[in-house]
Amino acid sequence: MSETVRSFGGAMTVTGSCHLLEAGGRRLLVDCGAFQGSRALFDLNRRTPGFDPASLDAVILTHAHLDHSGRLPVLLRHGYTGPIHALPASRALCEHLLMDAAKIQREDAERDRRHGHTADEPIYVEDDVARTIEQMEPLSYGVPIELAGFRVTPQVAGHIPGSASFLVEAGGRRLVFSGDVGNAGKEILPDPTPCPEADVVFMESTYGDRDHRPYAQTIEEFAQVLRDAQERGGKILVPSFALERTQEVLYTVAHLERDHQISPMPVYVDSPLATKVEDVYDQFPEELSDELRLLRSTGHDPFHPKHLRFTRSVSESKEINASSEAAIIIAGSGMLSGGRILHHLMAHGGEPSTTVMIVGYQPSGGLGRRLIDGDRTVRIMGREVTMRARVVTIGGLSAHADRAELLDWVRPSAPAEVRLIHGEPTAMGHLQQTLAGLGRTATLQPSAVRLPEDGHHDEAGE
Ligand SMILES: [Zn+2]
Repeated sequence: MSETVRSFGGAMTVTGSCHLLEAGGRRLLVDCGAFQGSRALFDLNRRTPGFDPASLDAVILTHAHLDHSGRLPVLLRHGYTGPIHALPASRALCEHLLMDAAKIQREDAERDRRHGHTADEPIYVEDDVARTIEQMEPLSYGVPIELAGFRVTPQVAGHIPGSASFLVEAGGRRLVFSGDVGNAGKEILPDPTPCPEADVVFMESTYGDRDHRPYAQTIEEFAQVLRDAQERGGKILVPSFALERTQEVLYTVAHLERDHQISPMPVYVDSPLATKVEDVYDQFPEELSDELRLLRSTGHDPFHPKHLRFTRSVSESKEINASSEAAIIIAGSGMLSGGRILHHLMAHGGEPSTTVMIVGYQPSGGLGRRLIDGDRTVRIMGREVTMRARVVTIGGLSAHADRAELLDWVRPSAPAEVRLIHGEPTAMGHLQQTLAGLGRTATLQPSAVRLPEDGHHDEAGE
């Protein structure tokens, strides 16, 4: 029996992951993510997915990041009524992330209407998200499940809690969908399980052309930045995604404190979403690495620096700014495109004692990138601000496997054909050549949807 796989997102670009597997008249969808990065890409989310959602037999979800899960409510709106299978941690994270996405769309539309602008209708609302979560059914790592004639086995991807790669067996053929493969150098999650033997492997290639800075070196740089800032006595502002990067920063600070590499200082997580995500890490300790579970069993909370505070209300958030104490403030958005981090930047960016610590990708043209490039006069929320803060970049905290790790991950699957997905054409081209050099056949999975001209942005999916 032969199968076909068409990609309605996440092919020739890093967002919108959505792969439709058809075999023996049955249809299985792997992920249904949102397109992100530019206005033109985001508008693709408004269209029908390119196939009839009502004709699907089942949906499996590799992980909760919106570029993999963000169009699930759209599927339901277009008539899908069946199950969405995912690890329990993915379900918990999806509930927070999708609700947050629905809320942002609703608030944006309300604000536009208030200002007399024509508002974009939300792509989905909170009720759609609630139905989506209700339709989610649990999977377990390493336990095969029969879904409409497909035998699906999830395995650990080590990218975020609940993240999985899938081995799908149908009609004697073995296919693997990598999802996002985790960065094995990091400590919070287990290393990704290597790709099983397969006929075809659909492999992400976000960092197909790059190797990360070694983790130990990254942590040393991180510690040095905190020590310098502590000496100067100012605020350390960390723009951060609510999921994964915030926990990574908290873990690193707590670890450095335990090792007496820095003295304890106040740490604020000023993000209601990050606070909810944090609970998911506590709820699913089985998702964590052995090392972290051991730490927990000795009574330590790995994500809890000594003086940690979560702020929930806006007034609490304002209080931090009123205080003059030295402190680490972690807030969204990670790309400085909005959110509470902008208020902190307005309040403290003009002080030379402030440090802005960049721990994630900043798109060109964005505020974060301009700060990194040394722009000292920037507009924040419509106001001109002269920046006197020190701006430092900490590389190496990515949640993705780098080039070398992707090769390590896929190696055991020989003699599979590799189809590259979830990457920019340049990164995929490099990876294709590297794989060819190792005697492996790799092709670039074509996109079944027409991507906008500016669809190829240099954003490394987080
Ligand atoms: Zn991801």
